[in-house]
Amino acid sequence: MFIGHYAPALLLATDRRSPRLGPLFVAAQLVDLAFFTFVLLGIEHMRMVPGITTMNAMDLYDMRFTHSLVGTAAFALIFAGVWRGRGGTWMAATIGGVVVASHWLLDLIVHSPDLTIFGSGYRYGLGLWNLPQVEMPLELAITAIALTWFYSETQAKGVAGRVSFWVLAGVMLLFQAINWLTPQPATIIDPVPASQPLLALFAYAVMTALAWWTGATRERNAGPVALDV
Ligand SMILES: [Zn+2]
Repeated sequence: MFIGHYAPALLLATDRRSPRLGPLFVAAQLVDLAFFTFVLLGIEHMRMVPGITTMNAMDLYDMRFTHSLVGTAAFALIFAGVWRGRGGTWMAATIGGVVVASHWLLDLIVHSPDLTIFGSGYRYGLGLWNLPQVEMPLELAITAIALTWFYSETQAKGVAGRVSFWVLAGVMLLFQAINWLTPQPATIIDPVPASQPLLALFAYAVMTALAWWTGATRERNAGPVALDV
């Protein structure tokens, strides 16, 4: 799951009580932002094993802090706490926390068993990365539905608001296409070079910046924008 993670952010950002789209894009990938940062720091680990799943070679064998259910819940609480601490409403903080937590459930659908509850022990994952004929239409569908919802429930504030949405949607689809079309490595790569997590963090940063712009240039339909931006 890559751009599909942004579906909950796009669906909930149209609610006037919610944080705007930019912060919700951070929430949607918060545990992946932490994971790739932890890989760079040597706190969590991954390697590339060709063929480990049909769609990609990521062997995510150590994600104990970020992708355990308890760890993800902690990140959700941290996001909500920071939001509330910055003066946001309880409702906005809760919505942000829900978007953070949605990441684990969406990963559960596609990952091969590498997700835990407590950081070790039994590993969960329904493995749709082994069924591209199901995973790819599913991820495209939930992203398209969420983008359509966001577009219909917001209005452009001038030209920028029209441009920003389409740039965001186009870049999301482009990054997903690159992700899918990049061939798997020929041999095991262990450990992964720093370029791997840095590239992922770069992609998330670009999409979040575009989402921030989109959220700032489009008005939510149901009246004046809430103040808890
Ligand atoms: Zn993840």
